[in-house]
Amino acid sequence: AATGNIEVKSAVCRYCGCGCGVLVSVADGKVIQVAGDPDCQSNLGLNCIKGYYLGSLLYGENRLTKPMIRDDAGTKGTGEGLREAEWDEVLDLVASKLKETWKNDKSRLAFWGSGQQPITEGYLQSKFWKAGLLSNNIDPNARMCMASAVVGFMNVFGTDEPAGCYSDIDNADVFITWGANMAEAHPMLFSRVSARKLADENVKHIDITTLKTRTSTDAEHVLLFRPGTDLAITNCIMNYLIKNDTYDKQFVADHLQFKMGTENIGYPYEDGYDKSDIGSKVDETTPCTFEEFAARLEDYTLEYTSNLSGVSQEDLQMLIDVFSDPELRVMSLWTMGVNQHHRGTWMNHNLHNLHLISGKYGKPGCTAFSLTGQPSACGTAREVGTFCHRLPADLVVKNPVHRRYTEAVWDLPEGYLDAIETPGFHTIKMFREMSKGNIDFLWSAHNNWAQSLPNLTRFLGMDGEHEGIFDTFIVVNEVYPTITCDYADVVLPAALWVEREGQFGNAERRTSVFQKCVEPMGEAKWDVWIMMQIAQRVLEGEKIGDADAFDHLFGFIWDKEAGDFIGDDRETNRAIWEEYRIFSNPEMKDTVAAINTENNMHMEAKQLAPYDEYIEQHGLTWPVREVDGKWLPTKWRFTYGDQAEGYDQIGIEMYGQQGLANDMSFYKTPDQKPSVVFRPYEPPAEEPDADFPFWFCTGRLLEHWHTGSMTRNVAELDRALPEALLNMNPADMEKLGLKDRDRVRVTSRHGSFEITVSNAGRTEPPEGLVFAPFFARETLINLAVHDYYCPLSKETDYKKTCVQIEKA
Ligand code: SF4
Repeated sequence: AATGNIEVKSAVCRYCGCGCGVLVSVADGKVIQVAGDPDCQSNLGLNCIKGYYLGSLLYGENRLTKPMIRDDAGTKGTGEGLREAEWDEVLDLVASKLKETWKNDKSRLAFWGSGQQPITEGYLQSKFWKAGLLSNNIDPNARMCMASAVVGFMNVFGTDEPAGCYSDIDNADVFITWGANMAEAHPMLFSRVSARKLADENVKHIDITTLKTRTSTDAEHVLLFRPGTDLAITNCIMNYLIKNDTYDKQFVADHLQFKMGTENIGYPYEDGYDKSDIGSKVDETTPCTFEEFAARLEDYTLEYTSNLSGVSQEDLQMLIDVFSDPELRVMSLWTMGVNQHHRGTWMNHNLHNLHLISGKYGKPGCTAFSLTGQPSACGTAREVGTFCHRLPADLVVKNPVHRRYTEAVWDLPEGYLDAIETPGFHTIKMFREMSKGNIDFLWSAHNNWAQSLPNLTRFLGMDGEHEGIFDTFIVVNEVYPTITCDYADVVLPAALWVEREGQFGNAERRTSVFQKCVEPMGEAKWDVWIMMQIAQRVLEGEKIGDADAFDHLFGFIWDKEAGDFIGDDRETNRAIWEEYRIFSNPEMKDTVAAINTENNMHMEAKQLAPYDEYIEQHGLTWPVREVDGKWLPTKWRFTYGDQAEGYDQIGIEMYGQQGLANDMSFYKTPDQKPSVVFRPYEPPAEEPDADFPFWFCTGRLLEHWHTGSMTRNVAELDRALPEALLNMNPADMEKLGLKDRDRVRVTSRHGSFEITVSNAGRTEPPEGLVFAPFFARETLINLAVHDYYCPLSKETDYKKTCVQIEKA
């Protein structure tokens, strides 16, 4: 029982991309309760089971509370060999190894970040790496989560921002989930879908999926499709919208431009690195007419598409009818099934194409909405530029204007950042290079890559060929022991969630602050403290112009003499945020949500509000505008407020330009027209054959977050789902002579693992497909998953490895 006063502070959930606001009750220096925050407009007070038990996350008995060092590299991968150390010893060691690599050959150092780092931490990490070390070898785990969505947005709208928001859910008539198990991966948003359906019995949900999930159980229609053929399905719908003259002719005429894209783009795998242009906003396209675009769709007949995808012609016709009905407000929702896809960028693009052609865009309830996986994949990875090709606020290293602008904000000499005009290693390139022995120093923060990466057989050196991991000096910031710690030379215990203050940015671009509520456990430290300690040591004696390099970059928050922050957590975060906020200058047209100054639009927009507004208002979606001294968020982009007659309380929440056709303005495209590009069906990198007859699909389940490194240390969640199972169709089990709960060995061309099989698990795969979640370290399923990736986004396809299965 609490003996002192109970204090309640606002925060954001630590786990998924829904970004639920929570209220944290603190007494006697401990978190005693967490509840949904009714004032957060993203979740309106809702939480899922993970949110309910958030407080327990801090107090698992295995919390890392002391720095650790490995003295004998020969113990790597054994689960032994780490000893406790003092902070000074550890920081000196890490800094000396980093500096040595940097001075010898900076192409051999790398940082792998996370969509789970708060915004200000990601911003500062990016500044340290790009301006401090002049290295682009920095990428986040978000590369494996939503890079395809980013490139999709950039290809269509010239900007990485959604037209819609979570409030679309409250206005839609039809929901279509595309390869998304929302009920488990985005539970709070799925609750909003359910609430909308309960409020109006005419509202329907169509689940287009490769296997039945908990999401399917709530749907009126479940359309099972053959993996990878969703591209053909979307093309088929568009083909008949045009053929039947039921597309939105006015919208097409007013707003869209049509293009052909590059085709037959291959499967980057054995060559180790494809040559495609990672730093560009768009892939190569050539303009075409609407008629030429329509002609390419003609191959996607009902008969062809049905035969290819396995979806009946009647069900395809139902989809065509939905998109043909001008009265229906349709919301498409997707996440990893579309992003982790051999043509992830194309499939993202095609969902936008479909909604644009049918005019189901720009009206509340009508949108193609890309869900994100992590709490700050949008805020930290996408917005502040922790990618190997980006700078803060959507700027890219390859663009000289962007480099000049970044130099101005960071007060660097003109031309200073020309040293980083070439993008560095994207995630898979980074780990392929490490596996080949070409990375000497790797630092990773808040990700468990030795469990979450695909093709672990290669990356953990278990194929007998790629053993670079044993020669790389590996530093890990973590909160609980993981498999990655087993390969680390140094483990740095990090402050967790509300043990420090920070911000997350969620899928609808809501930036929210989580306030500091309690002190870090043991000797755990805030990642920014760790970063500053190491940066101070590495940059000792370095100059930028005549100035001391460290002071020049970080002196605004850090006192070198004291070896500590100048202010407290709040003041430090505010100072970093205010610097980042300069990047959102509305006159710099390429930055997040900024205007296109050539169009002279919305000069009043500031995009990002002062730090304390985010605490007071329980989060704000950008762009924000200051009107009569109040900071107002945006919900719907590309649409002027007055056009949505009949919808209450929209007004200023819409962000577009009045006076254009239908008051729509796609403000980041040169001529205000999104690009509809023809995206053909191309088969997956692997398809089942006699040797490897099953599709293997992987994913998340409700109770566990990613690799379970946190949720398995929450006793209630671990008890609720203690074991990862391979779900298999009963007919397939019978054919292989398997019984429920038999142990099986799953083998692909890339590796193998053992697991318990079940026909009574959380998912119901069709014949020929099996599913397993990746949360359990004892069933390391990614040993078998391939690392082919979408050549445009470099995001790998975790959904379509081909495997054989035998009794273990
Ligand atoms: Fe909300 Fe996701 Fe946290 Fe659940 S895990 S409370 S849905 S943010």
